[in-house]
Amino acid sequence: MLTTLKTYTVQDICNGFVYNELEGKGLFGLGGKLTIQPEYQRNYIYADGKKDVAVIQSILKGYPLGLIYFNKVADDKFEVLDGQQRITSIGRYVTGKFAVKDQNDLEQYFSGLPQELQDKILNTELLIYECQGSESEIKEWFKTINIAGVPLNNQELLNAVYSGPFVTLAKAEFSNSQNANVQMWSAYISGNVNRQDYLAAALDWVSHGHVGDYMSQHRYDDNINELKTYFTSVIDWASSVFIDVKNEMCGLEWGRLYEQYHQNAYNPAEVSQKLRELYADPYVTNKRGIVEYILGGCSDTKLLNIRIFGEADKQTVYEQQTITAREQGVSNCPLCAMGNDANHDRIWKLSEMDADHVTAWSRGGSTDISNCQMLCKTHNRAKGNK
Ligand SMILES: [Zn+2]
Repeated sequence: MLTTLKTYTVQDICNGFVYNELEGKGLFGLGGKLTIQPEYQRNYIYADGKKDVAVIQSILKGYPLGLIYFNKVADDKFEVLDGQQRITSIGRYVTGKFAVKDQNDLEQYFSGLPQELQDKILNTELLIYECQGSESEIKEWFKTINIAGVPLNNQELLNAVYSGPFVTLAKAEFSNSQNANVQMWSAYISGNVNRQDYLAAALDWVSHGHVGDYMSQHRYDDNINELKTYFTSVIDWASSVFIDVKNEMCGLEWGRLYEQYHQNAYNPAEVSQKLRELYADPYVTNKRGIVEYILGGCSDTKLLNIRIFGEADKQTVYEQQTITAREQGVSNCPLCAMGNDANHDRIWKLSEMDADHVTAWSRGGSTDISNCQMLCKTHNRAKGNK
């Protein structure tokens, strides 16, 4: 890869700067010669009143902004390879999109700065490496650089590696915070639209976890019909089976749940009632497991992580059982006591026993001392497997 070190002033770079509010992107600069956010780049994420402000304050204090890399795509045509967040921050400031505090703690837009500070910003020189290489070289390199501040996450890297019409269309649908559906999707998907988390979920679902393969196969598709249809099917299914929306539903493996359970019929009213009972049950300590517990026919109680008996309760029940057992000359494990083998009168130590729900939790048994019995580990395991 060929690289040439150049210097440009802020004024050069901001010449013809365009920021698109709708797409959340800085588009062009350098008098039209520079594409600031090529398709494989992430959206602008510095507009948080901190990172963008820090860029401008660095310039005002004369601190270096770090190296910026351009990818030379044709004679006099460049794309920003690394530095788009900084450049977009500068462009947005110079074009009056946000203010920074001056030394008197007053918010100042660019146009309100004294002329010498405006000049200082515009004349600041930026160090730029212009790189020339094949697409695969550029992308390989892009994959390995650690971009100052916020490293690319996995989906952002995949978008870079598989850039093309498919990624462009997919981002317009799933990485677009202006999409009216995002609010509804956020009940099921955790993370941030701008950082590609929704796109990552959609791709994960449709590809059953083989995101890279899927993106590679569909890279040059001119539509995202399958991706969109599958995603909509999963969301529609989840929202029709579960009419209640709970915080714990956000970020579940909905794609896997859909694959595993969508052929089953559910009665949403019954599901809703069961869901509310389980949410209200103090013994259910893993609320995130409730959805799959219900989908699976309310049998796998491991998903719910039912509260276990406390040490003090176990100790109390152990003492009671052991006193009675010694009086009767039988084992302190009631199931051993019923048998005729060598353990019939064996007194187990507390550490050799486990607490058992006399009436199983799934049949309405509670996790308080009145429903606790101590069994030897063998019998407890045997009972648990039934
Ligand atoms: Zn036993």
